[in-house]
Amino acid sequence: MGSIGRQVANLLAVNPRVRFAPSPTGYLHVGSARTALFNWLYARATGGTYVLRVEDTDAERNRPELTENLLAELEWLGLDWDEGPLYQSERRDRHRGVVQDLLNGNLAYLCNADNEEVPGQEITDGLAVRFRMPANQTVAFTDLVRGPVSFATEDLEDFVIWRSNGTPMFLLANAVDDADMGITHAIRGEDLLSGVPKVLLLLDAIGAPHPVYAHLPLLVNAQRKKLSKRRDDVSIADYREKGYLPEAMVNYLALLGWGPPDDVEERPIAEIAKLFALEDVNKAPAFFDLKKLEFINAGYLRALSKEDFMERAAPWVSAEAAPWPAENFDAEKYSIMVGLVQEKLRTLADLPRFVDFLFLDEPVDDPDSWHKAMVKGPQAAEMLDGAAVVLADCSWETEAIKEAVAAVGEGLGIKLGKAQAPIRVALTGRTVGPPIFETMALCLDRQVVLDRIAQARSRL
Ligand code: GLU
Repeated sequence: MGSIGRQVANLLAVNPRVRFAPSPTGYLHVGSARTALFNWLYARATGGTYVLRVEDTDAERNRPELTENLLAELEWLGLDWDEGPLYQSERRDRHRGVVQDLLNGNLAYLCNADNEEVPGQEITDGLAVRFRMPANQTVAFTDLVRGPVSFATEDLEDFVIWRSNGTPMFLLANAVDDADMGITHAIRGEDLLSGVPKVLLLLDAIGAPHPVYAHLPLLVNAQRKKLSKRRDDVSIADYREKGYLPEAMVNYLALLGWGPPDDVEERPIAEIAKLFALEDVNKAPAFFDLKKLEFINAGYLRALSKEDFMERAAPWVSAEAAPWPAENFDAEKYSIMVGLVQEKLRTLADLPRFVDFLFLDEPVDDPDSWHKAMVKGPQAAEMLDGAAVVLADCSWETEAIKEAVAAVGEGLGIKLGKAQAPIRVALTGRTVGPPIFETMALCLDRQVVLDRIAQARSRL
């Protein structure tokens, strides 16, 4: 059976079996998370089985803590697996058996440290085993994303399948495990494309069918460079810690290389699973667009009920995490503030700086905000003086406060947008924050407002 022929049975598989096969690095890269997600989506879309296989054959990767983080991040994203985790390191005997069979069949040979063939057919400590590359063949397959791909064996070397230290090489373990686990579709990152011909030759040598391959496009940053650990936040944990919701994260990751037929991009992952098709994945590099991720996250934050929001936000305002003295916290005022700011946040990590002025003894000193409102802005001193007078005896309600401040502004020829800026900075320390008149009416006492205005005025 030809290479394409070997794929056909899997292409038509009614119960696809897919796998996410990470090599443990101690963290879950966003690109790997996208790979996990696309496998999960394909399984959920087709009624197939999603297997988690940990490729830990490298000695330095075979450490439990490296895998624990990875599994925890997958769970956080909600990407539950049907089988596994299976650990490749536990299958060493099987891998060794296959290598021995290949030696027996003269499809592989022993080799020393100088890369010279050594006679003999038994796996031997201190000697590596190389696969004998067949001459003058073309290895061809159809990738579901990239289309027809072919490689000439002339361009491929006799590659190592067993290390001299008695462990299998990645490609050997990868091929044998896909075969033994009945994997029908290998959905994974484009960086692995060049290894396919070697894996296919190994599968032919052991008489196993070929999985269907789908190589997902690379993720790139705004400079169109491959995401890198040095330049970019690449770990799912980074995004969790920055206050992204898992449901926003998976929604966004689903759009990296795939788009729904109706162009409705924001939708729950369960709905995406009903629409997902590997055939619709495109091969152009996918831009990891932080602005878009923030936008999607903000949408999910807005859509939470207030109760859910408060539960999700709790870690960011806990006594340990919050920037204010714990004893200053006032749960009632906090709850009112949540009502005012939930719709303004892009991430949960934004929350403390929208509410901190309520619980800090003094508002933060943010030099940029001070400069903008108090130095560059028009007539800050006059605005504060006027506000101190009108706020001392206006009725303490949103509309009345707003009208009082607007009137001071009018008297000075300043529109409300600019007129409120020095007051906002005097009260909150920042130019950006909650709706200031509601906040004053609902959460700040008149005396606190007057004191903070006086304090700011004295600095001018
Ligand atoms: N273990 C490989 C990696 O983490 C992936 C192998 C595969 O998906 O086939 O790069």
